[in-house]
This record gives sequence, C-alpha cells and structure tokens, in this order.
Amino acid sequence: ESVVNRIAAGEVIQRPSSAVKELVENSLDAGASTVSVTVKDGGLKLIQVSDDGHGIRPEDLPILCERHTTSKLSAYEDLQTIKSMGFRGEALASMTYVGHVTVTTITEGQLHGYRVSYKDGVMENEPKPCAAVKGTQIMVENLFYNMVARRKTLQNSNDDYPKIVDFISRFAVHHINVNFSCRKHGANRADVHSASTSSRLDAIRNVYGASVVRDLMEIEVSDENAGDAVFKMDGYISNANYVAKKITMILFINDRLVDCTSLKRAIEFVYSATLPQASKPFIYMSINLPPEHVDVNIHPTKKEVSLLNQERIIEIIKNTIEEKLRSSNT
Ligand code: ADP
Ligand code: MG
Repeated sequence: ESVVNRIAAGEVIQRPSSAVKELVENSLDAGASTVSVTVKDGGLKLIQVSDDGHGIRPEDLPILCERHTTSKLSAYEDLQTIKSMGFRGEALASMTYVGHVTVTTITEGQLHGYRVSYKDGVMENEPKPCAAVKGTQIMVENLFYNMVARRKTLQNSNDDYPKIVDFISRFAVHHINVNFSCRKHGANRADVHSASTSSRLDAIRNVYGASVVRDLMEIEVSDENAGDAVFKMDGYISNANYVAKKITMILFINDRLVDCTSLKRAIEFVYSATLPQASKPFIYMSINLPPEHVDVNIHPTKKEVSLLNQERIIEIIKNTIEEKLRSSNT
C-alpha cells in the first residue's frame, strides 16, 4: 500500500519545482501578504516556504497530511465552482510520501505556535508548542529520498532551481500586492525579490527588469455578450522592439498559474506572422472565465488547462493581439 501511495505521490509531485508551486499556492490561498522561499540543492535537500497567512488550526494538524484532506471544498458541487487554487487535498499528503515534511504554524489569537512532522500521510509526533510569528512555515527535506531512480535522474539533470525562480517570478507578476522572495539556502541575496506594489508594471520591472517593461503594451478584452461565456482578459504584451531567444508566457486563468499550450502556440504564430523580427514575445495575461468553464482536473499537477469554448477564446485573443501589433507597428 505504501508503495502505491508513493507512486501516486510521485505523480502529483514530479520535481522540486512542483512542490514549491503547491506550497506557494497554499500560502496565497491562506491570504498571505509575504511569501519567502528558500531552497537547498535544487530543492532536493530542502524546500522551505514561509508565509504570514491565516495559519492552520491546532485541531486540523492531525489530519493535515491525509490524502483528500482539504479545507477548501465543502460539498461536491463546489468542485464545479471552486475558485481557490488548490482543491483536492493531495499536495501536502503527497509530499509526506516522498519527503520529510515539517509544519510550523500559528493562527490568530494563539499564544504560541505548533510544530509537527509528517511521514506517509500521518503525524510522526504530537504537535509541539513552539514560538512562532504570524502564519505558516513548511519545510520539505530530502525529497524523493525513497525514490532512487527519480532522485538520480534529478541529480544528473539540471538543477531545478531556475524553474523554482521562474515560478516565483510568475507569481510575483500576478500577485502584485504580495511580497515574494526566493533564495538559495545560506545566500544573502535573493534571486527574486518583489516588494508589494499597486502597479503591474512595477512588479514586472522588479522581476524581469526595466528593459522588458520599456517594450510592453497593455491589452484588454472583454466579451460580455457572447451568451453565458463571459470572458475577460487583460495583460501586457511585448512590441516590435522586444527581442528574446525564447517566448515568456505568463498565464493566469481565474488567478491560477496555468499552461495552455494551444493558446501559447497561437500567440507565437501571430507574432511570427506580424512581427517576425520580434517573434519570441513576452506575454503576461490574466483571463477570467466562469469557473465552470475551466477544466483544471485533467492532470494531477493541475497545470495544463482546457477551456470550454477554447477555440473561440483563442480566436478573440489572437485577433486582439494582432490588431495591437499592427497599430503599434505603423
Ligand atoms: P489543497 O490546497 O488542495 O486544499 P493541500 O494538500 O495543498 O490541499 O493542503 C491541505 C490543506 O492544508 C489546505 O486545504 C489548507 O487547509 C492547509 N494548508 C496547507 N498549507 C497551508 C498554509 N500555508 N497556510 C494555511 N493552511 C494551509
Ligand atoms: Mg494546495
């Protein structure tokens, strides 16, 4: 049974960066205004995510890491309309099957916090009272220690740290009112350091630099009269002066960081047809749709989405971008 759990867990948490993404989403779900990430050995030795969110109640700690334990889903129908990013109570449980998880947390009004470690979905010890400031800190040590082949593959391939930095950078561009930092364990300097701001362009500048911001244009679409498919998109796209080796596509749908390969391809196509000299664009896009139009459940990692009316939505976005590029390039 534990082997089966471990294999399932290895599907949900495929690499250190997938663990970081899940932990940061939990912090954001908890209403954090500061999220700090520390990583050792590409995340294989240590991942630590600290937030100042609402914390975890002591009575919830015993089952926190059981599979399908979630505070974000009260009834089955909620699955259709759920707005928060996590909803299946799999991430934390999975981490305990493939790593060593320690949680330190305090909720508002408590005099002290609690610290507790988990293994294979269960608490290893009773929660110990400890000093704690606001929020939650989750530490994942020795990820994949019990999956020899996975660990070897990850050790032999490129370190996952750049992917982790990339995730945090994307979150920082979307959640502009949250302070983010990401650093290697023991490093004085953070590799991502984004102070909360009220301006999207400031956030992009914080993370990607002033030279990127200089070449961006704002875009916006709203399509209110297409039946029930109320659809809104806003964001920034690069102009003819932006030249890069690869596309940067930061996509949030209903505030969740996702991939949509067909949308990305369509945008790349518009750029190479309209601006061949700047055909690897920088795109930040935030899309809002009725939640029941977004299928996030096609894979345990919840990254690739499919949308109801996807072709029509892609068409609208394509046309909007093309128009913007043509009018700016004359
Ligand atoms: P999900 O996010 O899908 O609910 P997870 O396994 O990611 O499942 O987390 C399980 C539960 O643990 C969450 O529903 C939440 O109640 C709690 N939790 C996890 N991380 C945090 C955090 N940083 N702050 C507050 N609560 C948390
Ligand atoms: Mg979660």
